[in-house]
Amino acid sequence: MDSSQPIASKTGKKFLGIHFLGCNTYGRLYPNKEKSHYVGRCPRCGLTLKVKIGAHGTDERFFRSTCLMNRIGSVSPKY
Ligand SMILES: [Zn+2]
Repeated sequence: MDSSQPIASKTGKKFLGIHFLGCNTYGRLYPNKEKSHYVGRCPRCGLTLKVKIGAHGTDERFFRSTCLMNRIGSVSPKY
């Protein structure tokens, strides 16, 4: 963490890559206005995801998340 800078820093844009396991798809999370969280949505099911930024948040650049929308099944049943 001392010597390695995030890859995205060279572009001036920070984001997290994320793998949505539930939908088996990839997306990105970007910092919100307050720079307190990375926020993004699963491109398939629309699940909103928040990851805290900060010293006690995360330095990771890649995440995995399980989308639970499919399990809840409140959107639309699949026939
Ligand atoms: Zn999803």
